[in-house]
Amino acid sequence: MQSIPIKDVTEPELTTRFIRDQVSAPEQTSVERLLAGIRPWLPWVHLAMFLVFLAVLVVPVYLPESPEQATFLDDGRVLANYLLWGVWFPLVFFSVVVTGRSWCGFLCPMGAAAEAANRRGLQWATPAWIRWPGTPIISFVVITILGQTTGVRDHPEAALEVFGGTFVLAILVGWLWGRNKRVWCRHLCPIGLLLGVFARLGAVQLSPRMRKAGSDRLTEKTICPTYIDLPRKQAARHCIECLRCILPGHKAGLAVSFRRPGRELESIRHHQPDGWEVLFIFLGAGIALGGFLWLVLPFYDTWRQSVGTWFIEQGQYWIGEPGPAWLMSVHPERREVFRWLDFLMIAGTMVSVMVLSALILGLASLASASLARRFGGNCKTPQAMIQIGYSQAPVALMALMIGLATELFTPFLGLGMTHTQVNHVKVAMIVLGLLWSLWLAWKILGGLGVKRGRLVSILPTALGSTAMAAAWWIAVL
Ligand code: SF4
Ligand code: SF4
Repeated sequence: MQSIPIKDVTEPELTTRFIRDQVSAPEQTSVERLLAGIRPWLPWVHLAMFLVFLAVLVVPVYLPESPEQATFLDDGRVLANYLLWGVWFPLVFFSVVVTGRSWCGFLCPMGAAAEAANRRGLQWATPAWIRWPGTPIISFVVITILGQTTGVRDHPEAALEVFGGTFVLAILVGWLWGRNKRVWCRHLCPIGLLLGVFARLGAVQLSPRMRKAGSDRLTEKTICPTYIDLPRKQAARHCIECLRCILPGHKAGLAVSFRRPGRELESIRHHQPDGWEVLFIFLGAGIALGGFLWLVLPFYDTWRQSVGTWFIEQGQYWIGEPGPAWLMSVHPERREVFRWLDFLMIAGTMVSVMVLSALILGLASLASASLARRFGGNCKTPQAMIQIGYSQAPVALMALMIGLATELFTPFLGLGMTHTQVNHVKVAMIVLGLLWSLWLAWKILGGLGVKRGRLVSILPTALGSTAMAAAWWIAVL
């Protein structure tokens, strides 16, 4: 077969080659046939979701102010807010644990729009700064802080700015960089890394029928829009479940199977562990926590007062002025006007909690890894530390679900549940996340070959998970 330079090959040609190389049709499951049948319909689903997205983000900005007692049953703005934070966010988080990144492949209009723009765009080579593994972490941190300072959960204008702005950016990135790929989804989406980590907990698995030797590295020579080297795929992290590689009747396609949730992280040593991803778990859990702690810390107001007084004493009066509305919440009509002091205090608290969280969880993982090594662990301390760090994912998932999905429990309150009962459910979710984290740490240590001394080795990381759960308990309850 004549070799064709991959950069000159269109996606349909690549798919044809991919299929042509196969020798015989392997056994297909009905799930794979069903998924292959669904794939042609996905562009229509994405279009419908784009219209829903527009309606939920744009219409509320032009609706009249909601009365104090308005509910999602009788007010358009409250309904849109509920759809975003009570339906969309929890559904995305729940679904990722069950079906992996099905939100990305089946429903997300942003990634689909970026890919559509790419087909007609300039298709430049992706620059190194985008491919840097820290870029999605920075993307998440910046959007989380901006969301907090603009009040994305409370103000429709802020939701339009944050979600609409990222949508426009995704299209721009797609138009500029990559060749029949999703540069935005692989490298830049603010929630892409978050979904990637939690997809590793998911019950759906797509794995090569014919595995080739070698590690699961980024490659341009693939039909996968997120650059996965399909015959070497080991991890769920970058798979957005676009279904492009589900090819019934061909050996090269990926096979769909089901596994116990958390299975991939339990044996993370075989699934491309990555220090950047673990750093993201530590930082991401911390910054989201910081976004809630400033609201409840009793000494926050005293700090704010002291910092403000210090600036005034230096003659820096701008600190008491409101900033631009794109950067902070300026809504006098809703009796909320942030000043530069508020912006600096909120962003400062979030970054401080993020750094503290990363330090605590990092040290806890390091201590457990050192103990594991002492008790016969079969891997060097830095690698063991990365593997053990993944055990923090479930507690972070539960905490983020409770924290960010602010409207999740609104219908239950409407149906007669009391606030105390809702809080009990939240506590149960945090405890469940904590127990799952402990179980994961136990299994990961087992995978590292620690038999005698596993109970001692798990202690530091268990303390880290408990500290995270306790901090969220305070923040959310
Ligand atoms: S990575 Fe982000 S933009 Fe891409 S499909 Fe997933 S959520 Fe959408
Ligand atoms: S591995 Fe397959 S389903 Fe997953 S993103 Fe790549 S092509 Fe799509």
